[in-house]
Amino acid sequence: MAARTDRTQDPEIRAALLTARRGQAYFSRKLAELRDHELDAPSLLPGWTRRHVIAHVGLNARALTRLTEWAATGVETPMYDSPEARDAEIEFAATLPTRALRHLSAHAAVHLDVEWRDLAPEAWDATVRTAQGRDVPASETVWMRTREVWIHAVDLDNGGSFRHFPAELVDALLTDVERVWRRKHDGPLPVLEPTDRPGATTEDTGGIRVRGRAADLARWATGRGGAALLERVGGGELGEPPGWL
Ligand code: ZN
Repeated sequence: MAARTDRTQDPEIRAALLTARRGQAYFSRKLAELRDHELDAPSLLPGWTRRHVIAHVGLNARALTRLTEWAATGVETPMYDSPEARDAEIEFAATLPTRALRHLSAHAAVHLDVEWRDLAPEAWDATVRTAQGRDVPASETVWMRTREVWIHAVDLDNGGSFRHFPAELVDALLTDVERVWRRKHDGPLPVLEPTDRPGATTEDTGGIRVRGRAADLARWATGRGGAALLERVGGGELGEPPGWL
């Protein structure tokens, strides 16, 4: 039976769902501000127009819906058939008529939200697999979506900014970046020192120290530029960060 409110009572999951929903609203608002002909313009992502970003975010909701359904039913349904199939689907959807593209974005988001709302409390712990092949609890789909909607809203390049993000989201992004960096990269990593989070720094692995507002650090560390807003402690050029996703 369909519920009108989230079936899970877990306070952490409910708080995470709220941040994801606020992010979806933020993305949808930035998209609604764009006129149809403006969708053909470049996004902040190399080689991608705004259409590609919108298509990708919509298809990501569908992929996460498949993981949520997997958790609900126990029937394995991967996010994507293959990386190639994922990319081809984005390329195709980016060419959809504008109305259809906007519809994909809106409808896929609603569908995912309904699946989350109706997911049985115990199913949030069910194991599903990400596109990168990691086994995660179904609750991780909320964070995976949160990252996508907030950051890609900025990638639309019509005024979205990391400085609009809720503080707890910025902090979660910094934690996520640090975790992924440590998983993917050997050797010294940048030490991030947010000036507006007294005492909070990432682990010191002997890499360069980078100081600035937490939101600006999150922007740079997730590969969205903004080096000029940051200070490299001790001087010197602040180049590109290590790869994140
Ligand atoms: Zn993405």
